[in-house]
Amino acid sequence: MIPAAFDYHRATSVEEAIGLLREHGDEAKLLAGGHSLLPLMKLRLAAPGLLIDIGRLQELSYIREDGDRIAIGALTRHRDVEISDVLRRHVPLLAHATSKVADPQVRHRGTIGGSIAHGDPASDVPAVCLALRARFTTVGPAGERQIEADDFFQGFLETAIAPDEVLTEISVAKAGGSGWSFQKFNRRAQDWAIVGVAAVASINMGSTPLRARAVETALVGGATAVEAATHASDGLDPPDDLNASPEYRRHLAFVLVRRALEEAGVA
Ligand code: FAD
Repeated sequence: MIPAAFDYHRATSVEEAIGLLREHGDEAKLLAGGHSLLPLMKLRLAAPGLLIDIGRLQELSYIREDGDRIAIGALTRHRDVEISDVLRRHVPLLAHATSKVADPQVRHRGTIGGSIAHGDPASDVPAVCLALRARFTTVGPAGERQIEADDFFQGFLETAIAPDEVLTEISVAKAGGSGWSFQKFNRRAQDWAIVGVAAVASINMGSTPLRARAVETALVGGATAVEAATHASDGLDPPDDLNASPEYRRHLAFVLVRRALEEAGVA
């Protein structure tokens, strides 16, 4: 499929990208790795008149220690997150889950910031960032904002990023030896998750990535892994598609949450 015609501008700085977003309003879209936006454009589900390419802004590609946190530039490719020694040591859940995103071709192009900004409930990285209680930094005409992951994912493919803002950084706390687990159920190794669990947040169980709050509450109350996992779908409305019915997804959520809690050693 061929996208609708569009103009293209390669931004040389964050400031230039913000200026163009302001000038062109709804007509403009940022382009990072293009691995979510371009498929939407090819399906004509998105038809921006202008693509502002931020993919070569090297200043937004980094992984560095920042006290008891790790700061990750929004343009950092999935592959660099996957193989980062710093992340493998301090935030192994993020490095491991990122290694399960699609295939090497996608991981070499897609960016952590693009995945977060896209906010797809079926994506791995947004749910992992929820589980890690990540903090996101955006920059716009009014300056810099920091947004907690819990306040960030607002609806299907909707986030707290304003139309004239650029997501610049993802900050996650060092794990400090706490348990973790990432469970992804898919048909083929490179597929999206039919259901996934990053202890304890859910993938593809609603219109946004979701913290499994009922599971957390049960754990605080002293529940075992099996008992807590029975709450995996409480209050959730999983999608019905070609891959799975809502009932099947509820069953998977129970199984994957139980496995995740057992593997993480938290119950
Ligand atoms: P883009 O496509 O460039 O952008 C996505 C959206 O975010 C656009 O609206 C864009 O305007 C906006 N945006 C991008 N960067 C910023 C920024 N810094 N600030 C503000 N807005 C921004 N993901 C998974 O998690 N798991 C999978 O199993 C998986 N499988 C895939 C399989 C295939 C075949 C493909 C093509 C993709 C798959 N993905 C999967 C998605 C992949 O991880 C994408 O790379 C990612 O979702 C988007 O990152 P991107 O850099 O390509 O963003």
